[in-house]
Amino acid sequence: MAALVTLHFNHALLPQGWAADVRLSIQDGRFVAITPGVARQPGDHHAACALPGMPNLHSHAFQRAMAGLAEIRGPKGDSFWTWRETMYRFVERMTPDDIAAVAAQAYVEMLESGFTRVGEFHYLHHDRNGARYAEPAATSLAIIEAAAQSGIGLTLLPVFYAWSGFGQQPPSTAQRRFLSDIDSFAGLFDMAATGARILPDALVGIAPHSLRAVAPTELSALQQMAGDRPIHIHIAEQAREVSDCLAWSGQRPVEWLLDHADVDRRWCLVHATHMTEAETSDVARRGAVAGICPITEANLGDGLFPAEPFLRAGGRYGIGSDSNVRIDAIEELRMLEYGQRLIRQERNILALAPGRSTGDALYRMAVDGGGQALGDDAGLQVGASADIVTLDLAHASLVHRPVERLLDALLFGAGRDAIDSVWRRGVQLVSGGRHQARDPILARYRKTLERLTA
Ligand code: ZN
Repeated sequence: MAALVTLHFNHALLPQGWAADVRLSIQDGRFVAITPGVARQPGDHHAACALPGMPNLHSHAFQRAMAGLAEIRGPKGDSFWTWRETMYRFVERMTPDDIAAVAAQAYVEMLESGFTRVGEFHYLHHDRNGARYAEPAATSLAIIEAAAQSGIGLTLLPVFYAWSGFGQQPPSTAQRRFLSDIDSFAGLFDMAATGARILPDALVGIAPHSLRAVAPTELSALQQMAGDRPIHIHIAEQAREVSDCLAWSGQRPVEWLLDHADVDRRWCLVHATHMTEAETSDVARRGAVAGICPITEANLGDGLFPAEPFLRAGGRYGIGSDSNVRIDAIEELRMLEYGQRLIRQERNILALAPGRSTGDALYRMAVDGGGQALGDDAGLQVGASADIVTLDLAHASLVHRPVERLLDALLFGAGRDAIDSVWRRGVQLVSGGRHQARDPILARYRKTLERLTA
């Protein structure tokens, strides 16, 4: 058994709220004791203020490499669908080695911004001709390698993708790297699960890509294959997706999914942007997590998630960096709240209750919901992974803020530059805002980009 690691903080954000003089004991990467109201003891690592690490419930790591390359206006209305064409052209060229290099860079940036576990929604399975690699799970192993190098927690979500549109429309050539049938996918899933065992606490779930890309019988088979593992699906991201689904089935995507799948706490509905009031409260009632990706949803012009009615119905959400056009846990939360303010022309929407801090509400709900979606409870609590973020209280936006206002100051006044250290499984990976392997991982990323953009 590994040695006990102990840390002491003047203030720590526990699931029930801020506590003072908190001592955290860690063994084998998990909290074994959390004691508020005690003095620092000899040998304790000490810092002023601790937050739980933030789960990133939705990422396509390889897309980090195309950040900023899809921002030129086209001949007519740009949308998600025109962005996707750029993405397809870009992925044409990527090898498993490129994917490992780009993912490692993305994961370093995630850790530096306060994300400590990532849900990697991984669909780029095959070679550039659509043929299986000699090692069929080669690209999943590349993701696992990147997680090992960076130290981030991984919930790997191999994606099943078979069709280009509702009603089993044949896939396009550009989609050939993504495609599986149920049998080949089962093999891929087993190989990914075996490969992930090199990581100390990886989990493997299943991701039916979307109702566009998965037939109803396939969705049932995938649900069975998942057992009690996390199940993630893209749902109702785009208005066109809703109208196409209505034309196919007479139902909207969320409505269809709730009627035809056993949606429950295992499920993460990624985006869930376009929902009616009834859909919103039904998703909340089922206990599924809404996976909100505010930066990407803004970048792609998707629309705004109906956050307040969802939360009032008891819904749970987490945040994801999705396209990784920008990687910043704090900015995702700020954007989530600001989107709601702009559309409602009001302030402090997601605090919900009078007198509650908005920053506190946003942060704590995203930790809880993100942990649920990734299959590993997050937060500073006994049994959880010892993933901790500490703040630089000398940062100009945080000085002389009472502790109960700290998250407001962090989310609305500062940003990732106010993060001092990040710990994963009781090991410090980031100090002074820098990941310990930032330089070699960035050097490899630069080389990879030189070739990919040549
Ligand atoms: Zn996505």
